[in-house]
Amino acid sequence: MIDRYSRQIIFPGIGEEGQRRLGNSCVVIIGCGALGTIIATSLVRAGVGKVKIADRDFIEYHNLQRQVLFDEDDIKNGLPKAIAAEQHLKRVNSSVEVEGIVTDVNFTNIERLITGADLILDGLDNFETRMLINDVSLKHKIPWIYGGAISSYGMTMNIIPGETPCFRCFQPAVPTSGFAPTCDTAGVISPAPFIIGSLETTEAMKILVGAKEINRQLICIDVWSGRFDRFEIAPRPGCPTCLGRYEFLEGKFGVRTSSLCGQNAVQVLNPEIERVSFKELEAHLKVVGDVSYNEFMLHFKVDGREMVIFPDGRAIVKNTADESLARGLYSKYIGA
Ligand SMILES: [Zn+2]
Repeated sequence: MIDRYSRQIIFPGIGEEGQRRLGNSCVVIIGCGALGTIIATSLVRAGVGKVKIADRDFIEYHNLQRQVLFDEDDIKNGLPKAIAAEQHLKRVNSSVEVEGIVTDVNFTNIERLITGADLILDGLDNFETRMLINDVSLKHKIPWIYGGAISSYGMTMNIIPGETPCFRCFQPAVPTSGFAPTCDTAGVISPAPFIIGSLETTEAMKILVGAKEINRQLICIDVWSGRFDRFEIAPRPGCPTCLGRYEFLEGKFGVRTSSLCGQNAVQVLNPEIERVSFKELEAHLKVVGDVSYNEFMLHFKVDGREMVIFPDGRAIVKNTADESLARGLYSKYIGA
């Protein structure tokens, strides 16, 4: 094992003690797209003891341009991202405990998900879940690393409870949908998330080994123009999260449908369902459309529409951004 990590143990910032600390650490990566796959592959290779990866999505061809852990076989095998990531990473480093969790991270499950974590890493594409991570981080005093990338640019910042300003100090509210650019509207080239994911990984290593030189600024990059900037972020007086009011965690802004960034699709949640029997659902849906399923998800096509249903009752309705249409299809075929 020492040989596996010899090149980073020689590096003075890590050393043998740092390597031991990495091995005793548990991190949770929320979102496994371009950022999440870079972070996950780097931390598993670096020998972080336990890596949990939570993601709600399945893999499509347009993901392969930048989501480094996935390949064409994963798509053919109909694997959710969290499961494909777990399978690949266990082959990379069998001494790391890797756990892929297929779920929509929301206020009902995030506290269970982060139990025992030393650090939370952001591989997300949406602000709602980031606000939730920020709440849970400050409430449980677990540091988290914000990161986002789109087009040719990206940004990252460490949020250390009690030491740095929080995410809501500089992003007080969730941007109104339609105003924030998405991968659908702005596109993305792989170096932007690769660099942001690598910066997040570096900060993660520093935080986990207890290094003193932790970044305390907002770092912004644009790989196309070659610009790198750093900004001082001040604590915002009246910031609800800093005052201990965890509005996102309390479900004040809870949603049942949401458009998914980068794929023209809508996710529908159904808190009333605990577990779906794919066998029973197939029997009832095959009368009206095409159905196929494996243990992870069920595909259903009807009237030119397509949806994917997960065992927890969650569905992703493809080829639409219309949330009421998606909700309607869900009620019609799966149940209200
Ligand atoms: Zn704050």
